[in-house]
Amino acid sequence: MHDMTTAAETARDVRNSAPTLPLAGRAKDLVGSMIDSSTSLLAAQSHDIVRFAMGSPADEAVPADEFRQIAGEILDNTSFTYGATEGEPRLLQLLVDYLATTPDPSSHDRLVITTGGMQGLDLACKLFVDPGDLVVVESPTYTNGSATALSYGAQLLEVPVDDEGMQVDQLEDLVARTRQTPKAIYTIPTFQNPSGVTLSEERRRELLRLAHTWGAVVVDDDPYGLLRFAGTDIPTFQTLSPGDPLVFSVRTFSKILAPGWRVGWVDADPSLRQLLINGKQAMDTCTNVPNQHIVAEYIARGGLEDHLAGIRTLYRERKDAMLDAIARHLGDRVTTTDPEGGFFLWVTLQEEFAEIDTRELFEVALADGVAFIPGPALSPGGRFRNSMRLCFASSTPDRIDEGVRRLTSSLEKMAR
Ligand code: PMP
Repeated sequence: MHDMTTAAETARDVRNSAPTLPLAGRAKDLVGSMIDSSTSLLAAQSHDIVRFAMGSPADEAVPADEFRQIAGEILDNTSFTYGATEGEPRLLQLLVDYLATTPDPSSHDRLVITTGGMQGLDLACKLFVDPGDLVVVESPTYTNGSATALSYGAQLLEVPVDDEGMQVDQLEDLVARTRQTPKAIYTIPTFQNPSGVTLSEERRRELLRLAHTWGAVVVDDDPYGLLRFAGTDIPTFQTLSPGDPLVFSVRTFSKILAPGWRVGWVDADPSLRQLLINGKQAMDTCTNVPNQHIVAEYIARGGLEDHLAGIRTLYRERKDAMLDAIARHLGDRVTTTDPEGGFFLWVTLQEEFAEIDTRELFEVALADGVAFIPGPALSPGGRFRNSMRLCFASSTPDRIDEGVRRLTSSLEKMAR
């Protein structure tokens, strides 16, 4: 069995390997990330693998030459001492200036630089989630996010997603059945990870209304919103409800520039800023200085808009290439979403493949040279046995075709 550990196994392993250590109760709630485990697993393979698993930007989409040049200059001029926890003033100013050009301007009193989007999610949970609190998540969802809520002791409520995102019309009923009031609603509203779907405007309005009824914070995790390659923009929660103290926005440069920098930001009510800083000071305190300066200098040089335009085109071509390859190789034997941006397609097995468990398929496909994320890894309750997440962003159209061909052959082998 490969190391796509289930959540339960991770927790059990911790207890079994350290039965006599005085572990905190919360250690059992550290369920790990099957998504991230796939990185180490794939790195350990020596054969050729088409990588549809990780949600990484394409190598060609990272402005690597510019980064190398900027990094040299930055390392010559940056101090190597501790920096400000809330972020380097230069990056914060450039971010304020950049956001002023978008539909959602912000201000210094709302922004804190984070170590990637993940730290924004951690801070949201640190501030709002007590053990036993109810946290609403989409189903499927980005399970690193739901794992963060679990690590603070949350009870999760999975709400199904359809082509217009979370089925907010079911939310009230589902919540009523828990006899609890949600503390937080975790949503990835735009080009959702893993499904690629986008929450409609009507549902966003209804979700905000419900959040206000319950006094729940909306953790608005949107790493892909700037990567729209088709259709028209849908107003964000911030646009729909400017200055709303219940909207907690988590953003990152990971998908638009490069994930390795680990630079993101939180845009939240000014009353939270000092708490966010205090929370971060109890975590990693002074934020990584050189990385912020590299990102800042890249923005200062003015290339961000052109860069975004370029990668939107690249990702549209790749999404089309993947849908086209799926239509040719798999036809009606699967259904897929058709995202208008972002990185992911959600594929559900049909017909003779409908009974195949994508966790078993993962093993066969890995041996056949293609990797993806099995559906159950994208639901805290392990649902979606016959679905999978495919990232179209990281591979060229030729490789996408080859990967889908290999996947088809693995599926046919298993259906025999
Ligand atoms: N949220 C979502 C929905 C994501 O897809 C990701 C990255 N896969 C993150 C948060 C984490 O972003 P970062 O790498 O900046 O921590």
